[in-house]
Order: sequence, then structure tokens, then C-alpha cells
Amino acid sequence: MPPNIVTPEESNMSSDNNNGNNNNNVEEGDIITKTSVVSSLPSENQSRHFQHPDQPVEDLQHPEEDDKKEHETQERWERQQGGQLAWRSTILILSLHLLSAAGCWVLLIGGLCRATIVWTILWGIGGGLGVTAGAHRLWAHRSYSARRPLRILLMILFTVAGENDIYEWTRDHRLHHRHSETDADPHNARRGFFFAHCGWLMVRKHPEVMRQGAKTDLSDLLRDPVVRFQRKYYLRLVALFTFAIPTLVPVLVWGESLLYAFLVAGCFKYTCTLHCTWLVNSAAHMWGMHPYEEGINPAENHFVAFAALGEGWHNYHHVFPWDYRAAELPGYVGNLTTGFIDFFSTLGWAYNFKTASPDLVARRAVRTGDGSWNTPKERRRSAAKELLLAGTRGTNQAAEKVRESCVFKGLRKKAEELRN
Ligand SMILES: [Zn+2]
Ligand SMILES: [Zn+2]
Repeated sequence: MPPNIVTPEESNMSSDNNNGNNNNNVEEGDIITKTSVVSSLPSENQSRHFQHPDQPVEDLQHPEEDDKKEHETQERWERQQGGQLAWRSTILILSLHLLSAAGCWVLLIGGLCRATIVWTILWGIGGGLGVTAGAHRLWAHRSYSARRPLRILLMILFTVAGENDIYEWTRDHRLHHRHSETDADPHNARRGFFFAHCGWLMVRKHPEVMRQGAKTDLSDLLRDPVVRFQRKYYLRLVALFTFAIPTLVPVLVWGESLLYAFLVAGCFKYTCTLHCTWLVNSAAHMWGMHPYEEGINPAENHFVAFAALGEGWHNYHHVFPWDYRAAELPGYVGNLTTGFIDFFSTLGWAYNFKTASPDLVARRAVRTGDGSWNTPKERRRSAAKELLLAGTRGTNQAAEKVRESCVFKGLRKKAEELRN
């Protein structure tokens, strides 16, 4: 049974992705993410210099002083942050990497049973699917619904990945989408690759992250008994699913060495899963094309898509975060997570899928993409025509976009006439 497809208009969007509506490029029926809205709004720094009608003129007379004060506050905060390493997680991350290096050495010297290698790969993919299909697409974005048996399975798989409890992961991820590339983004990629990758876990959170995090609505998670259970027994569950089972099964079933199994199936597997997830926050926010929205950092990154089981189509995902496929791609090549979810839809365990219609995607790509949208010419032409029609109705910006795109000569000429 194919997944139920609902149009954005029919779908019940999650609260974190449908309430930006002040962008004058927005078309009727289109849905834009907060991310794209944030990117189009003036930043805090810029907005200070815009005069509110009620604001006294003298308040605006010393912008240099304001700049200086703000700079001093920022410097003070950075000085404090400099000494505020999150010691516990830093030590845990470093220790894990040392143990994983030993696991890598065991792999290189070839001292493992083949079954242990296969087991490690399968367990690693399982943990990855817990992150992508579970914490990300189900709990953080509500892009589909899952019956309780599937939620329990996804909770267990997510625990295998050991990436904090579902509640905290989801809170950070909703903040990331709502405040992308700002101080309130927990892994703000503007602070560099290392910070976005794993550095953010090693320092205290930015005050803005704490402030906005406290305002984030997570009531839907608290209503889910599976999420509550995982949060309550998190450490015990991690000990069991992240370390004990992956280590003990190879030892008890096919006689692997306890130390080797712990280093490879426990630690090395855990570290690989972490880096695959972290790449989405770092590499996919820095390198790649922007076919759907060129004004934001998230990009289409093929390597990350492969490593993170389909989460590297990040430009698409930030524009349509409620789409359960997290990509426009047909099929499951480069998007194993969608295949996994669709499999459970055939059992009736996953349902109520949200997807962006091809027309919506086409219009958005032609209007705001960087021109790298690689789809059949017919679809691009019909999207451009639609934009041109919008132009005849008075939206000159749309006509301008068609003119600039220089893709279709006939349409470009018409757009130019319209402009004159
Ligand atoms: Zn992102
Ligand atoms: Zn997301």
C-alpha cells in the first residue's frame, strides 16, 4: 500500500513550520518555513536601525554607541563561554573517540569474526534509522504518524544511537529549524564547522538557546507514553541498547572476544553513528547546491545523504520540513529512511504522511532556488508559466524571477514586456 499522500493544504502542519507569513514572495497555497522567513528578515543587528513609528528620534541618534554596547556584551559573553566547557560531555566524547580508535585498530588488524562486522553494520544502520525515521521525521517534525508498536521500535532504535533522550533531541531540533543560523540555533553553523559538528555539545549553551528552548512547545511529546518512558529510564536503556546488547550478542552467540566486541560493536559503531548525524548539522549546512531556496545555508549534500540515510537533502528539508521524505527524490536510493517508513506503511503501522506536491515544489524551486533544480524541462516550464501568470496579476517580482532565470527564451521575453 502506498503511503497516504496529503497536500500541504490538507495536512495539519506542526507548529514549528507554518507560521511565517510576512514574506512578500509567498504565493497562495505555498508554505514556507520559519528558516526561510528568518533568512529574509533583518537580523537583530539590522533591525535595531529601523525606526519604529513610535520610537523617539533621539533613540536613533547614536548607533555607534549601541554597536559598542552590543559588542561589549557579546565579548563578555564569549569570555565567559571560553571558560565554560561542558566538562562531562567533553570527557565522554573524548573517551569515546579514544576507545573507537582502538576499535578501528582492531578492525584494521583483522582480528574480528566476520559475523561481528556484519552485526556492527546492521546495528549501526538500525541506530541511524532510529534517529532519522524516529526522533527526526516522526517526533521532531510530525511528518507522519506511527502506531504504538512502531513508536516503541523507533524508541529502541533511537536509544541504540545514544543521542540523548527523544524529548531533548526534539527540543534542540525544533529550535534549530525555527532559529537556523542564529544564536538561538543550538548548533549554529555560522560559528564554524567544528562548533556545528560536535563543538556545541562541549560548551555551555548560548543564553539565547536557553531562552528560546524554554518557549518551545513540546506538549505533544509529553503526551506520548513512549517518549516519557524513554526519558525516565534513559541511562539504563542506553547501557542496555547502546553497549550491552551490541557487545554481548557477538560474545555469547558466535564467541567473539569481549574486548573486541565492546570496542567495535559498542564504541566504534556508536562514534560512527554520531558523526553521521553531526554531518547533517555541519557539512550539509555548508557545502552543496540550493535548488529550492538560495537564501539559506542548508544545502543538498550527496555525501551526507548517503552517510545519514537520506538526511543530506537539507535544502529541501529546511524548505519543506514537514515532508516525511525529507527529499524530492523518487525511490529510495539515497534515502533509506523513506524506504523504511514506507515499509511500515504497508503494515499499517505508519500513516498520515505529509508530502509537498510536485507543483508546490516546482513553483518554489523556480521562484527562490539557485537554478540548480534538476528536473524535466516540462515541469520547469510549467512552473515558470505559472509564475508569469502571477506576474500578469500584478506580482512583478515573480515576472522578474522568470526574466532573471534566463531558462526559457519565449517566457523571458514576455516577462520583459510585462516589466516595461
Ligand atoms: Zn539543518
Ligand atoms: Zn529537521
